Amino acid sequence: MGTTWQRRRTVSVTDIDYPGTTFRAQAANFRIPAGGRQIRYVIIHITGGPAMDEGPALNTFRNGPASAHYIVNREGRVTQFVRDAHIANHVDNIASATNRESIGIEHVNPWNAERREHPTDVQYEASARLVAWLCRQYDIPVVHATMRHSPGIRGHIEEQPHSGHSACPNPAWDWDRYITLVQRARSETFDEMISTLARS
Ligand SMILES: [Zn+2]
Repeated sequence: MGTTWQRRRTVSVTDIDYPGTTFRAQAANFRIPAGGRQIRYVIIHITGGPAMDEGPALNTFRNGPASAHYIVNREGRVTQFVRDAHIANHVDNIASATNRESIGIEHVNPWNAERREHPTDVQYEASARLVAWLCRQYDIPVVHATMRHSPGIRGHIEEQPHSGHSACPNPAWDWDRYITLVQRARSETFDEMISTLARS
């Protein structure tokens, strides 16, 4: 698996969007929208499976059909799989309105019959910095917006309530804590944000 990873220093800065990106890997399934797209909301996911690292998600995304823009691991490292301007396949199917209008972020977090974990402190913080950046870039309001297709941040199950994804991510996810962290990161100036990233 080691050969599939690329350290940030070996990746052209033109190939990533978020300056806090640690790794770059390419998802198999993505679309380049004709005429660009408007990014209106962020969808939060958890992996749910038993793995405590991003290995299985990496394999899944490299083989398709599922994909997401980013994954945040339990050490707070961020991997980008799909460019922000491109459409990933993280809710329903790749042609869905949700995928067309959103950024999808996975988090390594077991939640199943055998093992139920919550995100780590550094994972929450890293995800909040990433989402604050996205909200700044794309003018997305920092709110937990639970209504489908509305501007803001919400979980997979809120965007697709009749799907089988009832554990993505809400039982594991502390929304009040998370939104507070995103708001705090979003309140930083651009320069403060960059220097925070440089220290992390
Ligand atoms: Zn999900």
